[in-house]
This record gives sequence, C-alpha cells and structure tokens, in this order.
Amino acid sequence: MYKLIDGKAHSRALRQEIAEGVAQYKKNYGKDIGLAVVLIGDDGASQVYVRNKIKGCGEVGIKSYAHYLPADTTQSQAEELVGGLAADPAIHGILVQLPLPAGLDAQKILSLIPVEKDVDGFSESNIGNLCLNNNCLVACTPNGVMKMLEREGIQINGKNAVVVGRSNIVGKPMAMLLLNADATVTVCHSKTRNLKEICSSADILVAAIGRAKYITADMVKDDAVVIDVGMNRDENGKLCGDVDFENVKDKCSYITPVPGGVGPMTITMLLYNTLAAAQRSVQIG
Ligand code: NDP
Repeated sequence: MYKLIDGKAHSRALRQEIAEGVAQYKKNYGKDIGLAVVLIGDDGASQVYVRNKIKGCGEVGIKSYAHYLPADTTQSQAEELVGGLAADPAIHGILVQLPLPAGLDAQKILSLIPVEKDVDGFSESNIGNLCLNNNCLVACTPNGVMKMLEREGIQINGKNAVVVGRSNIVGKPMAMLLLNADATVTVCHSKTRNLKEICSSADILVAAIGRAKYITADMVKDDAVVIDVGMNRDENGKLCGDVDFENVKDKCSYITPVPGGVGPMTITMLLYNTLAAAQRSVQIG
C-alpha cells in the first residue's frame, strides 16, 4: 500500500513554522522582513504566480513589495529597479518573475540580485555553492522536494536516486541536493538511451520532464518513492504530472499527487528562503 505525500499539509505545517520564525525575527530586531517581487509585462500565468507569492507573504507576516512594470520596459529601467532593490536594506529577498518579455536580457537583470538576496537560488554563486555543499539559498522547487522527503522521514543516504530532467531550475539542483544527501544519483534527459532501465533501478525517482503521464508503471521499481514535479494538461485539459499516477501508485511506497504534491511546496520554500535570507543578514551584520 502506497503512502500519498500530501504537499498541501506539509506546506501548511511549514508555513506555520515560517510564520513563527518571522514573528521571532520582528521581535528580536524590531523590523519587518521584506520580499520584493518584480513582474514585467502581462503574462497571465506569471500574474497568477506573483499574486500567490504575495498572498503567501501576507500569510506568514513577510512584507511584500510588488513592482509591476509594463511590457515595454527598457533594459536600463529594469536594471535600475533591481539595482535599487539590491541596495535597499528593507529588502531581504528579490524575485524577478520569469519569463521576461522578449528583448530584455534576463541573465543580466538577474545578475544584479546580490547572492544573499537571491531567494530563487538561481544565481551562479548560489548554484556554485550548492555544488560545493555550502549553506546557501537553494531553488525553491527542488528544495521543497527535499523538505517533503525529510518530513516524511524517507531515508536518502545510500539510496539510488534517478532524476529525469536536467533544467537549471529543477533537474540539476534536485540532483545536487540528493547527491549532497548521500544518494547515488543518475540524471536523465531527452538524449538518455535506456530511460526505462535506469528509472527501474531507482529507489527514489524524481520526474521533472514536462510531459503528461510519461513515467509509466513498467519504469518504476516495486516500493520506489516517486516524486512528480511535472505540471501538464492531459488529453481532457485536466492538470496532471509527468507520472501516470493511476497505474504507478500501487507499485510505490510513497508518491506525490498532481495537483497537491510538489506544487504547494514551491511558494512555501520562497517564504522559507526569504526568512533564511533575513536571518543571515543579521548574522552577517
Ligand atoms: P524544462 O523544459 O526546462 O526541462 C525539461 C527536462 O526534461 C529537460 O532536461 C529535458 O531534456 C527533459 N526531457 C524532455 N523530454 C524528455 C524525455 N522524453 N525523456 C527524458 N527527458 C526528457 O522544464 P522544467 O525543469 O522547468 O520543468 C519540468 C516540469 O516541472 C514541467 O512540467 C514544469 O511545469 C514543472 N515545474 C513544476 C514546478 C512546481 O512548482 N511544481 C516548478 C517548476 C517546474 P533535455 O535537457 O535533453 O532537453
């Protein structure tokens, strides 16, 4: 019998802990924790994500500063805004919602976010620190997966972990986190030849592909822990993951559903990173 990993319940519990941490910070230092969220343009999905991030801040007592810029914002206007936030002591975390409108150099704009305010964990320095297993701000989605594994008491040390997907924001940091937790890690991608065989060897299988129900039951080992990062629409337009949940679940010891698995943890980890950034700013001085 499999156990469903309830991302909503983990997220609720973690938000409660974050709220306590934020309240303690305010009590200790007499000031707010600030997160700046920058949205450029009118991408519908980005507007929803930003709204949910701001709502999440309100829930845990983090002060959010929303900056909405029009789609025709110039590179220098965007750089000026992010540069100003970088220098502002009331701002502990900066998030620039991606994708940016065509014509803007996202990498250049992101590079203006100081490493200690990079709450998305996307900067070269934070990715490098993650590779070195240094304490750092880690990308929210893979870090949320680690938190769920930890909270479920799932052992990682010594296990065979397979990550399908090698994006900079999910697959690669996920693989590095599992490696840092002493798993033996294999990373697969679109050029991997024997995907089924490799996936079948996984004690912990993480799917971050972006293809509806791509991981089928014959790719999953008995009693595997299956983590589904994917967010896709199935043939009926219904939200689904990269894992063929209905057919895979009975082979698993643990599995995350979509929706209600990894997704709810992502914004919570942004709040977690913002609290961590603020706490570190007072330790550093
Ligand atoms: P990307 O498109 O950036 O990366 C997809 C990865 O999957 C690539 O490395 C690609 O390989 C690999 N891939 C594609 N097709 C195959 C295949 N047939 N076999 C093996 N590997 C394949 O996506 P992201 O990493 O940004 O996101 C992955 C999924 O996770 C998406 O569904 C996305 O919506 C979801 N997501 C969910 C989040 C959440 O909060 N729940 C947050 C972020 C993402 P290659 O490198 O060779 O092209």
